[in-house]
Amino acid sequence: MKKYDVIVIGGGAAGLSGALALVRSRRSVLVIDDGTPRNAQAEHVHNYLTRDGVPPAELYALGRQEVIGYGGEVVTGTVTTARRDGDFTVELADGTTYQGRRLLVTTGLTDVLPDVPGLAERWGKDVLHCPYCHGWEVRDQAIGVLATSVMALHQVQLFRQLSDDVTLFLHTAPEPTDEQWEELAARGISVVEGKVEQLEVEDGRLTGVRLEGGRVIPRQALAVQSAMRARAGFLTDLGLETTELEANGIVLGTAVQVDAMGATQVPGVFAAGNVADPRAQVVSAAAAGLMAAGGINFDLIGEETRLAVAARSS
Ligand SMILES: Cc1cc2nc3c(=O)[nH]c(=O)nc-3n(C[C@H](O)[C@H](O)[C@H](O)COP(=O)(O)OP(=O)(O)OC[C@H]3O[C@@H](n4cnc5c(N)ncnc54)[C@H](O)[C@@H]3O)c2cc1C
Repeated sequence: MKKYDVIVIGGGAAGLSGALALVRSRRSVLVIDDGTPRNAQAEHVHNYLTRDGVPPAELYALGRQEVIGYGGEVVTGTVTTARRDGDFTVELADGTTYQGRRLLVTTGLTDVLPDVPGLAERWGKDVLHCPYCHGWEVRDQAIGVLATSVMALHQVQLFRQLSDDVTLFLHTAPEPTDEQWEELAARGISVVEGKVEQLEVEDGRLTGVRLEGGRVIPRQALAVQSAMRARAGFLTDLGLETTELEANGIVLGTAVQVDAMGATQVPGVFAAGNVADPRAQVVSAAAAGLMAAGGINFDLIGEETRLAVAARSS
């Protein structure tokens, strides 16, 4: 069986960017991808300098072409397990196995959405999470923020930057503090107490938010906080677990822990993009993939140099 220098698991922005740097360093690289990038529901990618507005599928197709153009290989499949046997063996759902000297894990994350009828169907369209990804597209609209955690208090202020008509639905979030109530009032954000029952959709567009009891508040867009879970279940045989990542006391999601060059605590296994940092956007996931590729190439060079020195002195 062919042994690749590097197997990249996940061919989104992080994986393809890492693969590109590695093939350009004359490394043999296999990218395995199952075609379910996180932003698949979105029509366009924003905030990717020089490619603002590109459809996600087009960006990833271009990336694949660039990797293949330098001799990289890309296959479609889902990795189910990875184990160490000197080098690494990864197994796909169809039973195919591949061997590599290093692994770059770039499988992204899963957004677990609030369980509100009508919400999942509108995800990536007029149900949003990220003001930087789609905020401009809903500017000046009637925007709601569905609060399921304290994160909503930050999110609502970010969306207030984009519209004068912003409503916070307290839903299942903890009661705001006195200071937060003051901040909401000072910024002209209206607050609706009570639980949301479902979203109202007409002609394929969000029209409102229905509360328990039947009251409907007209809204054109709704921001939510998804629970962000690293797609890393297949790493457990390698002894690699995910941990909760926090910022300012708020749990952002789960992630594989990495150092600045993408190295995990398992030697030879690197990770980048949303699987290691739920905050990463497309451009920063690509940048992290590039850094991890640098870490892997340097790690391989170290191993090859040690072997060359040993061979020379024997
Ligand atoms: C609706 C929506 C819209 C967004 N819009 C924007 C935007 O406009 N601009 C922006 O910068 N960011 C946007 N984001 C965030 C963006 O999607 C992420 O920052 C980006 O996808 C992270 O890249 P990644 O390479 O880490 O992960 P992904 O892009 O998710 O790529 C991971 C890849 O790994 C593959 N994979 C996963 N598990 C396996 C497995 N076991 N075996 C094989 N392959 C596997 C998947 O098929 C996928 O292709 C948006 C997110 C969402 C949810």
